[in-house]
Amino acid sequence: MRFRGVRAGFASMIWGTRAPSRVKFFCWLLVQRRIHTRDVLLRKCIVAAEDAGCPLCSATLETADHMLFSCPFATNFWQKVNVAVDGVTICTLSALTTAAAAAVDSEVEFSMLCCWQLWKHRNAVVFQQLPSSLARLLCCCREDTVLWRDRLLKAHRSDVGAWLRALSQ
Ligand SMILES: [Zn+2]
Repeated sequence: MRFRGVRAGFASMIWGTRAPSRVKFFCWLLVQRRIHTRDVLLRKCIVAAEDAGCPLCSATLETADHMLFSCPFATNFWQKVNVAVDGVTICTLSALTTAAAAAVDSEVEFSMLCCWQLWKHRNAVVFQQLPSSLARLLCCCREDTVLWRDRLLKAHRSDVGAWLRALSQ
C-alpha cells in the first residue's frame, strides 16, 4: 500500500469500501494489472501467443482493459446498465465510478460488483465451458446486489433499488 512513504492512490478507494474481502482483493490486483487475463499468462509463458486471445470475441490478446471495457460483450453489458465507459481503463477506474454514480446513484461498490461479475462470467466461460450470456451475468449481478445490501453503509442501502433497476433492464 505504500512505496517509499507514498501511499498508493487507489488504496483507500478499494480497501475503504464495503465490498466483500475477496472482491477488494480482486480489485487490488486488477488496478495493478495482476489478475490472470491471458496477456499476463502469456508474459509468464503459461500460454502461447496463439492461445492468448479473448475467450469471448475474436480479439487476439485478452487484457484486463479488454475484458472489462472494450470487449463487445463488456460494452454490451455497460450499455445495458446505462454506464458510459468510453475511454475508461484500469488506470481510470475512478472515471468508471463517476459514470456509475451518474447512471445508478451508486457508490464505488457498484462498479466493483460489475467488474467482479464480468471476471467471474469470463472464468465460467473459460473453466466451465458455459456459453457467454448477458442474461446470466445480469442475474448474477442482481444476486450479489441483494447479498451486498446489508454490507453497505445504512445511508447507501436505499441505492440498491437503483442498482437492481439498472441490472434488470
Ligand atoms: Zn473480447
